[in-house]
Amino acid sequence: MKENITDMKKYLSERVLKLEESPTFALEKKVDMLDGQLKAKGDYVVRFGIGQPDFNTPDNIKVAAKTAIDENKTKYTASTGIKELKQAIVDKLARDNNLDYGLENIFVGNGGKQVLDAIIRAFVNTRDAVLVPKPYWVSYTQQVVLSEGIPLEVDFNDFLKIDVEHLKSLIKQHGSRIKCLILNSPGNPTGAVYNLKELKEIASICVDNNIFIISDEVYEIFIFGNAAHISAASLGDEVKNITLTVNAVSKTYAMTGWRIGYIAAHKDIISQMTKIQDQSASNPCTPAQWAAVEALNGDQQSVELMRLEYEKRRDYIYKRLTSIDGIKCSLPEGAFYVFPDVSSFYKGDIKNSFDFSSQLLEKAYVAVVPGAAFGDDSFVRISYATAIDKIKEGMDRFEKFCRNLSG
Ligand code: GLU
Repeated sequence: MKENITDMKKYLSERVLKLEESPTFALEKKVDMLDGQLKAKGDYVVRFGIGQPDFNTPDNIKVAAKTAIDENKTKYTASTGIKELKQAIVDKLARDNNLDYGLENIFVGNGGKQVLDAIIRAFVNTRDAVLVPKPYWVSYTQQVVLSEGIPLEVDFNDFLKIDVEHLKSLIKQHGSRIKCLILNSPGNPTGAVYNLKELKEIASICVDNNIFIISDEVYEIFIFGNAAHISAASLGDEVKNITLTVNAVSKTYAMTGWRIGYIAAHKDIISQMTKIQDQSASNPCTPAQWAAVEALNGDQQSVELMRLEYEKRRDYIYKRLTSIDGIKCSLPEGAFYVFPDVSSFYKGDIKNSFDFSSQLLEKAYVAVVPGAAFGDDSFVRISYATAIDKIKEGMDRFEKFCRNLSG
C-alpha cells in the first residue's frame, strides 16, 4: 500500500547515512554564525579552523579567467581537461617533480578532493581496504566509506609519520584486500614532510605488496627550512607504475574556490577513470581551467612570497605554542598547519579534543579543529593560513585559555 513519505532517511542509501559530515566544513558553518553574532559586539572569532589561504588569487590568474570568459571559453571541454592545461601540468611535473609524463597520463577534475574521490571509486570494491595513515585529513576515510570500502588506520611514530611496523602488520593481517595507501606529504594536519629514506621504505613495502600509492601533494610548495619535497613517483619506474600523484592549484595559488585538481598516473588507470568523469562531472569548470593554465605557466613570484609568509607565521606560532605549559608540539616542516598535543588539559568538563575545541571557541572565540577528526583525540589542528596580526591575537587568547585551565 502506498504510504505517506515522512521519514526521508528510510529511503536513502546506507552509504550516505553512514557518511560523516566534514568536520572542517561543519566548523566553518558554526564559526560563521558565531562571528556574525560577535560582530554586533565589535568582536570576532580568530579563525584557525579551515585550511584555506587568506591570500587572494594572484592578478595574472584572474585576468586569464576573465579573458577566457570574454573569449567565450565557457562550453564543455574534454571531461578530463583541456590539452593546454594537461600540457601545463606535464611541464610542471617535469620541472618541479622530476616526473616524465605525457598528456595521456593526466586527469583534471574539480579540485583535489574530487579527484581523490574519483581514485577511490576507481580502485575500491565493497569491503576492499585502503591504508590511511593517522593523523589523516578528514575526507580520506570518509571517501573510502562512500565507496563501501574499509579505511585501515595506520598508527604514527614520534614524528607524526607512518609507524612502519604497524603498516607491515596491517598488510600481513589484511593481505590482498588492501588496494591503496594514502600518502600525504607535506601532511595535513601535521605539517610533517617525508624524507627520501622514509619514502623509499614505504614505497618498497607498497611495491612488494602491490599496493597502489595515492600521493597527495597539494601542499608541496609550502615547505620550510631544510626540508625538501620529493614526489613518491620520482623514486623509480616500479614505484611510478603504482603511484597516482595528486595535486591542485587550490593551495599553491590561493585558488580554493576555483576547484581545479589533477592526477598523474599510468595511462591505463587514467583511461578507465575518464569514464567516471564522463558520467559524473562532465568536466572541470572551463574558465577555471584557463586560469589554472596561467597559474602553472605564469610568473611564480607570488607563490614564493606566500611561502615566505607562511614560514614566518609557522615560526611565530610554534614559538608561542611551545612556550605554553602543558602543550607538546612538533615543528611542522610544511603545509600551513600545526598540530599541538593538548591532552594535558583534559580534566573536569574537558574530556577530549571536541570539548577542548568547543570551549576554546565559546569562551575565547578561537576556532581550531579537534584532533579526533583526524584520528587522534590528543591533538587539535591550528591552521595558520591567516594574517599575522590575527595569529598574534589568536595565540594571546589561546594562551590565556590554557592558563585558565591550568590555574
Ligand atoms: N583541506 C582543507 C582543510 O583541511 C579544506 C577543508 C576541507 O576540504 O576539508 O581544512
